[in-house]
Amino acid sequence: MPIFTDPTHFPSFNELPPTSSPTLPQETWYLIAQIREDMTITKPTLIVRDRTGIDFAVTFDDGDHRGLNPNSTTNTTKGKTGFRKGHTLVIPRATRTDRGDGKKAVVRVPAGSAADVRIVPGALERVLEMGAIIAGIREQEKQGTRVKKCAVCGKTEEDGGKEDSLSRCTGCGLAAYCSKECQVRGWNELGHKANCKVIKAIREIWP
Ligand SMILES: [Zn+2]
Ligand SMILES: [Zn+2]
Repeated sequence: MPIFTDPTHFPSFNELPPTSSPTLPQETWYLIAQIREDMTITKPTLIVRDRTGIDFAVTFDDGDHRGLNPNSTTNTTKGKTGFRKGHTLVIPRATRTDRGDGKKAVVRVPAGSAADVRIVPGALERVLEMGAIIAGIREQEKQGTRVKKCAVCGKTEEDGGKEDSLSRCTGCGLAAYCSKECQVRGWNELGHKANCKVIKAIREIWP
């Protein structure tokens, strides 16, 4: 983990087990989807899109999400729930609730489970891209083939002549740089400013 293309652990909306299913997998799976719209009026409700491009609604049976105003069920101002459009929602053990009568299926987060839902502060596409990079690094670490190198110029520790000649980004703890110049370039020109918080969130959710 996190191998976001693995449908067992990261199913798309259509691959989710139905809420009515008598037996659910024991091992935790995660639905990841990008927030498109916060439709909250009373019950927190989001329109999200999964990696296959399907849009669906996610509702929270209680207002107990850590990003939610605890009074939001009685005192909601649109957009004040802490859910930001364009960010990515991570829902552990999500199930698909079919509503019949030609109504679209939804994902309902049951009361007591909202606190497990996480938000990665970035678009789904970025989350998938960073997830693939992190998974690749973990695989290399497992096989002992990882070569630490500067994320910008590619200089390795051996090139630097001594161990720990590279310093890691204090934000995500993953990106390494040979110099202050490379770090600044990585942050400003090569997009680490946006990637850093996404990497940090992914590593916190799947340590
Ligand atoms: Zn460098
Ligand atoms: Zn970073």
